[in-house]
Amino acid sequence: MNFKDRVAVVTGGTRGIGKGIVRRLAALGAKVVVVGTNAETALQAAQELEKEFGIETGSFGCDVSNAPQVDGMIDSVAERFGRIDVLVNNAGIARDNLVLRMTDDEWDQVMNVNLKGMFHTTRKVLRHMLRQRSGSIVNITSVVGLAGNAGQANYCASKAGVIGFTKSVAKEFAAKGIRVNAVAPGFIATDMTRELPDKMKEELSRVIPMKRLGTADDVAPVVAFLASDDAAYITGQVLAVDGGMVM
Ligand code: NAP
Repeated sequence: MNFKDRVAVVTGGTRGIGKGIVRRLAALGAKVVVVGTNAETALQAAQELEKEFGIETGSFGCDVSNAPQVDGMIDSVAERFGRIDVLVNNAGIARDNLVLRMTDDEWDQVMNVNLKGMFHTTRKVLRHMLRQRSGSIVNITSVVGLAGNAGQANYCASKAGVIGFTKSVAKEFAAKGIRVNAVAPGFIATDMTRELPDKMKEELSRVIPMKRLGTADDVAPVVAFLASDDAAYITGQVLAVDGGMVM
């Protein structure tokens, strides 16, 4: 896999799974643009990549749920780098609650970031990819978008939506040189899962056939593969990276 002269935009690239993805793409020679809600944190993450991997980087503070911010960010990347080859839609949040107690705000926040945010970035980046007649988009869903999870109706609905969105856009753009795939991580050790009670983590490790939580480094190479030319004949697919949890 070689990403030399390729430009990759990764939302939520400042922490967790996204950090693993930006590091992997940087190690493979890509020019990487780190996007997070906080401009300072994103800049710091990009500078770390430059120092460690000697690549060109960009960084943006951009809330993916805000369409004008996304449009401005994508146009700035295209103007500065001249092209956008890879978009990884990784930014995501959880606002867990049992459905009877779930507020409209908890529902809306999760939908706006996880699903509408992905729509905003994809719609905008496709204009640039269409002009190039090439590009690869990788969307981060979750195995709970396939299997469901008590206490996460909003999150699971958003992640199931990501799968439908991925397949629809893949069909719309397959003949135009643009591929769209999804990666569905299982339970991965990040800030998002740190808050889970130890008892629940032990229980999870027990039910995962591989008997451990995953890491960002388990997910990142799979994202890089789908983004790369090695996956040139793959589109509209959902690849689970979950230690065998959902099969
Ligand atoms: P995380 O550690 O909480 O990191 C979330 C990232 O998303 C941060 O970089 C954050 O940026 C960014 N972000 C959040 N809201 C944003 C917004 N409105 N606009 C732009 N960026 C935003 O989460 P993670 O565990 O790495 O999860 C990454 C993705 O994998 C998510 O889509 C998540 O749903 C999915 N996933 C995670 C797991 C898991 O077990 N951890 C399993 C399956 C799927 P700032 O820090 O700058 O706010």
